[in-house]
Amino acid sequence: MAQSKAQLLEDFRTTTIGNCTRCKLHATRSTIVFGEGNPEAQVMFIGEGPGKDEDAQGRPFVGKAGQLLTAVIEKGMKLKRSDVYIANVVKCRPTVNLELKRDRPPDDEETAACGPFLRQQIEIVKPKVIVALGNPSTKFLVNPKDGITKVRGVWHLYNNIPVMPTFHPSYILRNGGDNSPLKRFLWEDIKKVIAYLNGEITFEDIFGKPALAIDISINVDTNEKRDDEVQGSLF
Ligand code: SF4
Repeated sequence: MAQSKAQLLEDFRTTTIGNCTRCKLHATRSTIVFGEGNPEAQVMFIGEGPGKDEDAQGRPFVGKAGQLLTAVIEKGMKLKRSDVYIANVVKCRPTVNLELKRDRPPDDEETAACGPFLRQQIEIVKPKVIVALGNPSTKFLVNPKDGITKVRGVWHLYNNIPVMPTFHPSYILRNGGDNSPLKRFLWEDIKKVIAYLNGEITFEDIFGKPALAIDISINVDTNEKRDDEVQGSLF
């Protein structure tokens, strides 16, 4: 009998990743943050790496940024956090000079060592859509020539899976806190994901052809007007 996605993920976590020491981040981690959520999820959220809270708890997005992401999922998308799958490009906490004081994005060596784990998780979960949170995860998945400010809100493809890049919740909170004006952009991007999940826009609408292994990016206009007030009341 074929293994379930949950079994495949668990086997992968225990047998392949195990007590991984493939990059220098193993030296300072408390726990490997594998990722969590519904193995059958339609939506996968991907960040860059665990922070202090995540390292301590062994779960992704559990700090302040995690609260914002959870609000987006639950209040904005009307899903339960347990309905989606959440993971990062690297599974151990990257800090400046490995001093555990200031978090930083994963470097190329760490991304090269750990990235294949994420690719395998995506391969197992096979989500209908991926939301890439911030520059490192967007670069890892679709390698656009521009940064997140330009590519957010623009559909891309990863192995035939639509990818919506948007701002990382930490970046949003660093730029204005709970009242950050960047929340509006996050909500605009998430509305496109909702429209895709609801079937209001299709793969063909977005990419101009049926699902094929192609690598293009097209800006999608869902004809939805900005609705700051709605977002403001959601998260
Ligand atoms: S970040 Fe990834 S590759 Fe590096 S030690 Fe942790 S699990 Fe292994």
